[in-house]
Amino acid sequence: MSEPLFRRVALIGIGLIGSSIALNIKASGLAGHVAIATRRRETLDKAEELGLGDSYHLEASEAVRDADFVILCVPVGICGAITREIAPHLKQGAIVSDVGSVKGAVIAQMAPHLPEGVQFVPAHPLAGTEQSGPEAGFVELFHNRWCILTPPEGTDPAAIAKVETFWQACGANVETMTAEHHDLVLAIVSHVPHLIAYNIVGTAADLEEVTQSEVVKFSASGFRDFTRIAASDPTMWRDVFLTNRDAVLEMLARFSEDLATLQRAIRWGDGDALFDLFTRTRAIRRNVIEAGQDTAKPNFGREPAGGAKPGQ
Ligand code: NAP
Repeated sequence: MSEPLFRRVALIGIGLIGSSIALNIKASGLAGHVAIATRRRETLDKAEELGLGDSYHLEASEAVRDADFVILCVPVGICGAITREIAPHLKQGAIVSDVGSVKGAVIAQMAPHLPEGVQFVPAHPLAGTEQSGPEAGFVELFHNRWCILTPPEGTDPAAIAKVETFWQACGANVETMTAEHHDLVLAIVSHVPHLIAYNIVGTAADLEEVTQSEVVKFSASGFRDFTRIAASDPTMWRDVFLTNRDAVLEMLARFSEDLATLQRAIRWGDGDALFDLFTRTRAIRRNVIEAGQDTAKPNFGREPAGGAKPGQ
């Protein structure tokens, strides 16, 4: 049997992303030993019950001891404090990574604590669901999804190549870019869409002339697709907006301008402007499907439920 890619991997945090990584390590034999750490006993017990690792720890510093690959799978706001805690226990030559949805702030928090002789290769798998916790993970989560690496200048190319191999073995396509560019791209493809979903669901919940039960009852008309996104983890998304503030505000300014243009088109009955935009956006949907990032099946491949037809 060939040697695993890593002797010992430490996963700090074992929610949706951490547990999906653990399942991939197991399925593809990527590590000789998987050490799992999380802050709450309840989560650790669940991870053990699911058999996600080989050793289980409430202290992150114990899990990282002798690990050659350490991945932080926790909300971005806590990455700095955890790195400070584990730093004195990291092995020389170890690679440290994370999966945070924001890269600039994570690097700023983590890098100052990392000792000489440890390589830092931040990563962000663009894959997720609205579920959280160790039971939410599944082995296919990263299949045919992108994983973006944002190694700071001067990172050992061999360490970057090893992390790339790891993510490819998890089924992901890997691309490398600067943290700054990552944060701008993610602001428009992920962070602003989540904010819009949180906002529209919040607005509907606060309406007075339409009752909440009507909003729920007639949700298949479009609203329910926003509710899926707006059900995403509150801690994770609070941290995303607090740490990717500048890029999100920049994209929101553009969004607001374009929304005002749409408002104007509706007010002045400019059907051509509306039709042209809706035609362009339909083509983007086709591109997403052709790129293998979603299914072409009607209604996202959902089974019909309650007789509601899609697109009403
Ligand atoms: P999750 O399912 O909520 O799991 C979070 C994990 O972090 C749990 O093990 C939790 O521990 C631990 N944790 C939470 N707060 C903590 C704190 N204050 N101190 C120490 N540990 C703490 O989260 P997830 O969806 O896997 O997300 C983890 C990371 O992946 C985030 O940085 C997120 O930005 C990134 N990410 C998420 C998605 C997504 O769609 N979900 C996609 C790509 C990247 P306990 O349960 O023991 O409290």
